[in-house]
Amino acid sequence: MLTLAGATLIDGTGRDPVENTHVVIDGTRIHDRAPSGRTLDLTGLTLLPGLIDAHVHLFGAGLSLDDVAGGKVSTAEVAAGMFRAAEQALQSGFTTLRDCGGADGGLVRAIKSGLVRGPRLLVAGPILAQTGGHGHFGSPFCSGNAWAAPGLGQISLVCDGPDQVTRAARTAFRRGADFLKMCVTGGVLSHSDSLSDTQFTHHEIRAAVREADARGTYVTVHAHNSEGVRAAVLAGARCVEHGSFLDEETRSLMARHRTALVPTLTAARLLAEDAGRIGVHTDIAARAEGMEAAMAESLRRAAAAGVPVGSGSDLLGGAPRRHGLELALKADIIGPMAAITSATSVNARILGLDHLLGTVQPGKTADLIAIDGDPLTDPGLFDDPASVVLVVKDGRIVKDTQHLLTS
Ligand SMILES: [Zn+2]
Repeated sequence: MLTLAGATLIDGTGRDPVENTHVVIDGTRIHDRAPSGRTLDLTGLTLLPGLIDAHVHLFGAGLSLDDVAGGKVSTAEVAAGMFRAAEQALQSGFTTLRDCGGADGGLVRAIKSGLVRGPRLLVAGPILAQTGGHGHFGSPFCSGNAWAAPGLGQISLVCDGPDQVTRAARTAFRRGADFLKMCVTGGVLSHSDSLSDTQFTHHEIRAAVREADARGTYVTVHAHNSEGVRAAVLAGARCVEHGSFLDEETRSLMARHRTALVPTLTAARLLAEDAGRIGVHTDIAARAEGMEAAMAESLRRAAAAGVPVGSGSDLLGGAPRRHGLELALKADIIGPMAAITSATSVNARILGLDHLLGTVQPGKTADLIAIDGDPLTDPGLFDDPASVVLVVKDGRIVKDTQHLLTS
């Protein structure tokens, strides 16, 4: 038994903070009882639910994306980058990640067994991409796709027509997918499409949704433009990544269907700032010009229309592992409390784990973080891993830079 006492609690529900609280942990869960066992004095700190990043790509982390796509890296380097990125996310206060393409069930097993330190991980496995569409990496003048090592990672499976989509979906699940990711519009990091393109037909998207339904899970789609988003929502997709250019009709369709939006402001910002570090050519990065501003406006209007807004960084390749930048950027658009709920309770709902994660309430999993300062007045704290002084995952202390346990 462990009691976290004295902190100001932001519980993830969107309620106002409560000062001088105590949270009791018994085993892996939060309990509703009087303080007992060891007590950690968190006076002066802010306690929050463990943060959730609903859009990451651990595959290729720490490496140049061009090198990965060009087959210039070894399996050992890819694995090492993924393991390090998993540990860094946890140390930054992110106790759960949803990998939106690349990592498969192999990494999930490595973390679960304790071989690798990292957050709870849900994966899409390989992305479903159409021939020449977003996610079909590698040179357009060579046959085949990018680098792949089943059991570690593979960025995509190229499939055309409902039958091939069905087979690709089943392959993703066989590799350990918890949900499916499908690209229904062009993307920034593409050689052969534009952001205004739509990809996959209604019947192809339906085929993926049917396979996800059969497994009791869902499809999330990579989509920038309204036409692609509407096609996906009408075919049954439950979540939209990026959503950079959503018109009014599309926003209200999403609100009616309760389709979640996961904007990815961090990737847009970092791509504009330093494409070289991520490992993409400047002509590719130029496609992202104006992307962050468009995405911010789309997000602001979607939130106002009642679309559930989650949180994802979409950190890619050699980009610095700044998961928390997403909350800092979003706080400027929809306010710090909404930014916090997007990365906690709303993300937990998107992942289908809201009965366990996302809020600090009795019965929930003891995933908690303490921040030195007040993130409501200074959301930039989320972008500084050093300000996250305590991380508890599944009831176990995995970071304690102020030596709270031994003092
Ligand atoms: Zn992505």
